[in-house]
Amino acid sequence: MTKDPLIERARAAALGAYAPYSRFSVGCAIESVDGAIAVGANMENACYRLGICAELSALAAAQQAFGLENIARIAVTGGHVGDDGALAGDAVVTSCGGCRQSILEAAQVSGRDLEVIASNGNGTETRSSRISELIPHGFGPANLKDAG
Ligand SMILES: [Zn+2]
Repeated sequence: MTKDPLIERARAAALGAYAPYSRFSVGCAIESVDGAIAVGANMENACYRLGICAELSALAAAQQAFGLENIARIAVTGGHVGDDGALAGDAVVTSCGGCRQSILEAAQVSGRDLEVIASNGNGTETRSSRISELIPHGFGPANLKDAG
């Protein structure tokens, strides 16, 4: 099992997902520079396109809890809920393109090249990246500084 408690928080958050259609539960945990943690999970909708990702859910919670400017790092994981009630899954779950864009927003607001840790549902395999690697040459708030 993983030793990073942030990944375990993300795995626990995935258990709170509302994913009756895909049955693919995703959890995200965001740590502030002060060690506070905000979490989120995916939430689907019968109108499929209205579903939201765990990262967006967690970013909204982080904004309320400590502000996007204070985010230090982000962990995301996903899989299915096993018979034992724990999150399970072999494949490392990485953020979708839309979530990378939203994380970039927080990164530019915070002035930090945020670490994003992706994990498989089992919590046994992780992949750490910087947001600049996940969305190179991304468009963010810095691009709007010349707006009139
Ligand atoms: Zn996403």
